[in-house]
Amino acid sequence: MKQQIPHWGDKPYVSLDYSLKQQYGHKVYRIAIDGGMTCPNRDGSLHDRGCIFCSAGGSGDFAGNRATSITEQIENGIQDLEKKRPVKYFIAYFQAFTNTYAPVEYLRRIFTEAISHPRICALAIGTRPDCLPEDVLCLLTELNHVKPVWVELGLQTIHERTARYIRRGYPLSCFETALGQLRKRNLTVIVHVILGLPGESTDDMLATVSYLAHRDIQGIKLQLLHVLRHTDLALDYEAHPFPLFKQEEYYDLICQCIELLPPRIVIHRLTGDGPKKDLIAPLWSSNKRSVLNAIHQELKQRNTWQGRRFYE
Ligand code: SF4
Repeated sequence: MKQQIPHWGDKPYVSLDYSLKQQYGHKVYRIAIDGGMTCPNRDGSLHDRGCIFCSAGGSGDFAGNRATSITEQIENGIQDLEKKRPVKYFIAYFQAFTNTYAPVEYLRRIFTEAISHPRICALAIGTRPDCLPEDVLCLLTELNHVKPVWVELGLQTIHERTARYIRRGYPLSCFETALGQLRKRNLTVIVHVILGLPGESTDDMLATVSYLAHRDIQGIKLQLLHVLRHTDLALDYEAHPFPLFKQEEYYDLICQCIELLPPRIVIHRLTGDGPKKDLIAPLWSSNKRSVLNAIHQELKQRNTWQGRRFYE
């Protein structure tokens, strides 16, 4: 008898789209916002050149214009998205740089402005685990009682050797402490992972995903390493080209990652998300839609689904 493959909506994994439709009854879109932050890894506190892969926009290349107010950025984002489709609710995504690296009064002002907007249903705040002091945690907890607050942590890898190479600037123990603090306060935690970092084997990457599969996190972004112009990674790549994923290798790895993750963890992203104009390599990844189609095709061919290997 043919085995019944679990599906969530039309996919054999729990996508962000599916999860949001379950919660809100509609498709929900994100509006990327620039809250005018910097980052301790860029302002000289930890380093002055940032993580090795970080773009000039602080990995927030699709965010709004920091010269405009939060409300204006939200309104502009709504206008742009509504030109293409009718949308009811949006998530305000503080994406560029480290969005808790500022005095708490400033954070209170900008986050309150965003969360008070009637079309905003949740806040997503991208930050570093070493930038979550007590007063900021209290603020996030307070806001989480108004509307859901997601905290997105850029872990990228569990391997200290790679973390040093990418100049992440904090050890794994720091991530673990922050995760404990956030979860104690019932904040939703989404973790960013980069697949394809130089020097990491397939087993290293799967070890990172497996580690996260066993942690109390609510979402994960799996991102293919992109070599972007104007980054130190690009300089390294030009000087000593390191191997990058070929399409089929990446699809294979992504399927294995999906199998390792339990369905309680929502999968927010399965590929890279850098600006096309700055992408040096791998160029095959520039068409996000075709990459996702190929991943879905691969999952279908393998007859596999999210969590298949988690319980083994
Ligand atoms: S922590 Fe984020 S913003 Fe800061 S340098 Fe690294 S990637 Fe860029």
